[in-house]
Amino acid sequence: ALYSYFRDIKGAEGKQRGHITIESSPKGWFWFIPMEGSKLGDVSVGLVTGQEFTDQIKTKGAEAFYEEALSLAPNITALIGTKAQRAQPVGIVKDWAYTCEKAAGPGYYLAGDAAAFLDPLLSTGVSLGMLAGYSASVCIHTALVDKSMEHQSTEFYANNYREMYEVTRDFLHYFYAGNASAHPNEIFWNARRMLNFDENIGAKQAFSFFVNTIPGNPHPAVKKQIPLFQQFMNNLDHSVNDIDSPKSELVDKQMRLADSLNGDDIPVINGRLETSWQFDKDKHFLEQIRGVTFDRNRPVFSSTSSWLLGRNIATLNDDAWRLLNLIDGKKTWQTIVAEYRACYEESEVGDRSDASKTVVPLLSEK
Ligand SMILES: Cc1cc2nc3c(=O)[nH]c(=O)nc-3n(C[C@H](O)[C@H](O)[C@H](O)COP(=O)(O)OP(=O)(O)OC[C@H]3O[C@@H](n4cnc5c(N)ncnc54)[C@H](O)[C@@H]3O)c2cc1C
Repeated sequence: ALYSYFRDIKGAEGKQRGHITIESSPKGWFWFIPMEGSKLGDVSVGLVTGQEFTDQIKTKGAEAFYEEALSLAPNITALIGTKAQRAQPVGIVKDWAYTCEKAAGPGYYLAGDAAAFLDPLLSTGVSLGMLAGYSASVCIHTALVDKSMEHQSTEFYANNYREMYEVTRDFLHYFYAGNASAHPNEIFWNARRMLNFDENIGAKQAFSFFVNTIPGNPHPAVKKQIPLFQQFMNNLDHSVNDIDSPKSELVDKQMRLADSLNGDDIPVINGRLETSWQFDKDKHFLEQIRGVTFDRNRPVFSSTSSWLLGRNIATLNDDAWRLLNLIDGKKTWQTIVAEYRACYEESEVGDRSDASKTVVPLLSEK
């Protein structure tokens, strides 16, 4: 990336004044990050470009390369305005994309840039660093107080980090591949046309990540997000039909509400039953939860922060957990309900009539 700072900029009007803008241009993409009040300048403007331009940057010089590229980014040039002054020389950072094999293990936790850095596209470096620091502190505190939790705390943290990294990476692949059509003859974008549109799952996950659904409560968002996703996909060069993959077993199945199931329907869980952990903020401790997660073959509705905070699960109460554990993809709904009632009658706890309401958004018809 080649970056610099400007003073006395025009900027955006009203509420948008503090917003980050990104703009694709022939040699990469620009970030425009307002930072009024900073000693460095009013705005940070950086160009993310590729190694394929190393020779050009050396020959022309970083300043000339940066200025020339900026002149081909009309939106950001307009935001900078004609009266702005450059406040700093052009700086260069390179070779920044890296990750670690595992973000935590015996005797260590990695957070922020020490763990991984992918791409500045989402301007998430600082918030990721802070969230990871918080997450690591809860895991370490848990292991210090309860020695038997050491391994589980470490695995919880390392797995969340990996999931977060992979979802972000998929989003980035999608961003770069999706923008290739805007600059069809430019080497930067063509070199990054790497998404295989037959394997659309990563794209779905990436989009889901992008729209940043409600952390900790993924299922109710499905109805809202699917039409948004379809609308987005319909506006791409490839229609949804072109790219829909026949590989996923559940791809053609419709969501059905549990209370509309007939007795001889065979329901399946729209995800996977799992136990996981969440943060007890007051005790600064990991607390066990159980619920439904989407499996890897389905869209993941989750945000970066939700991975690091361990909220990638729709939690279930005891009723729903008991009911969903009876669903095995073979039993009919009436058998499941009968078994559920029988186990209730044995244990005599709770109000069984609430259970089907709890699981309503979690079922599909097989
Ligand atoms: C040009 C550029 C623009 C960016 N823009 C944004 C942005 O707009 N938004 C955003 O969120 N992120 C941005 N980032 C990324 C962000 O700066 C980093 O992701 C973030 O600072 C990482 O925080 P960290 O605490 O992990 O590491 P750092 O911020 O690097 O902190 C590590 C600290 O440890 C110190 N240190 C190193 N070794 C030792 C040692 N042996 N002993 C003691 N101290 C030591 C270092 O001096 C440093 O202060 C940008 C990065 C670059 C390069």
